[in-house]
Amino acid sequence: MECDKCGDDAVLHAAYSGLHLCEHHLCRAVEKRLRRRIREDGLVSDDATPEDPETWVIGLSGGKDSVVLTQILHDVFDRDPRIELVALSIHEGIEGYRDRSLEACEELTEELDIRHEVVSYSEEFDVEMDDVVEKDPEGMAACAYCGVFRRDILSRYAETLDADKLLTGHNLDDEAETAMMNFFEGDVDQIAKHFDASLGPFDSDSDAPTERTREDQDHHVPRAKPLRDVPEKEIALYARFQDLPAHITECPHSSEAYRSEMQELMLGLEEDHPGTRHSIMAGYEKLAALAADAYGGDDADADFGECDNCGSPTARDICRKCNLLDALEAV
Ligand code: SF4
Ligand SMILES: [Zn+2]
Ligand SMILES: [Zn+2]
Repeated sequence: MECDKCGDDAVLHAAYSGLHLCEHHLCRAVEKRLRRRIREDGLVSDDATPEDPETWVIGLSGGKDSVVLTQILHDVFDRDPRIELVALSIHEGIEGYRDRSLEACEELTEELDIRHEVVSYSEEFDVEMDDVVEKDPEGMAACAYCGVFRRDILSRYAETLDADKLLTGHNLDDEAETAMMNFFEGDVDQIAKHFDASLGPFDSDSDAPTERTREDQDHHVPRAKPLRDVPEKEIALYARFQDLPAHITECPHSSEAYRSEMQELMLGLEEDHPGTRHSIMAGYEKLAALAADAYGGDDADADFGECDNCGSPTARDICRKCNLLDALEAV
């Protein structure tokens, strides 16, 4: 098959668009979609100036998604004095898994000359995920603990690093799976939160179904997922063709069984009905905006206070992270 743009050998047939693309044109297409998403979400604020730049913290795990995100953001903003990039990696304390992906992070950030911060659960919380899994005081899946600890680190360090935005490498498949999981669980609150946490635009002159933006979500550093229009497979191909140091193994504690089911379902649907992921997200984003208007937002924010123990924002007296750490200590 030949590339529809230039006639070279095609490396991908994107069934959802009907296009055959060569290596070169696939890579340009990935970059273009990321730049468009940055524009459409209004990610570069009007207040960002060379004298007073914005700091964007990138959650860099060393997997293909965050590595590709970091590389393209660097290519786009390297010579733009309005934006400063900082990469933040987290070591969860998982034997034989995180060390190698951190090497990938180091290699990449050295090559791109991006500031790189590494934070570990052991230094922050005096726990390692391998021990947490062993003790499991709450009878939960590993990822349920890990997600709480990760969110705590990300939001605290985003604050410490004076971040204006926190960017993660979630791709189209990730987001469509999350959308379907929220639907199937009937969790409208979660859909509203999803919009306010990472989907909604930053400025109000986009063509969203509501005026809602994320300007007034002030208890967290706002998040964004600039790769969320790009299918996972294309990100993997990009990493390979650009020879990026991405590390590809699964975490041994990975336990999101429901997500795996969703993934399988989605792949089947996409094969029979190309474009399913895109149409799910197009509809979901509109509904999520309406849900956020109706359910999310300012009233919920009013409940936010500070954890008595660590000062993190929480709706309770003691935050979830401190609860889990207490439970682990009691074992
Ligand atoms: S798969 Fe789960 S346990 Fe492993 S790093 Fe990710 S969240 Fe943590
Ligand atoms: Zn081509
Ligand atoms: Zn706390």
